[in-house]
Amino acid sequence: MPLCCLVSDPCDRHKKLTGAEHRREAERLLSEASFVRSPDHPQPVHRDGSEMPPSTHAALIARAHAHAILASVPQRGDHVEAWLKRQRDRWTEHTRQWTALDNALDDYRLHADCGTPLDQPTPLFPPAPTEGGEPR
Ligand SMILES: [Zn+2]
Repeated sequence: MPLCCLVSDPCDRHKKLTGAEHRREAERLLSEASFVRSPDHPQPVHRDGSEMPPSTHAALIARAHAHAILASVPQRGDHVEAWLKRQRDRWTEHTRQWTALDNALDDYRLHADCGTPLDQPTPLFPPAPTEGGEPR
């Protein structure tokens, strides 16, 4: 099983990880999946050389891929949001430049709130809160 949750709907534990932590986890899992018996017999093995079932190898790759996707999801308060805000605030409020950067900042925050990677479209509005007050 790739992750305990869907990449499109991460559980609270996975939501709490930063982009850098997701990237480290992806690298760790790929490293675990990168051992082979020998160059002549490239079937995957564990770090200690013991047998690794193909399903385990596939699961490591799938989990690494899921963490790599989650690593690319913007987060409120990250360095990119701070950089966009600094760029916007170099301009006088409501000039064309300020407005363009403010729109970019809003879109970045919308991606963060929706948990959507930047290379994918967001829903027009962030998910409506459910009865528990948590976004869907
Ligand atoms: Zn999870």
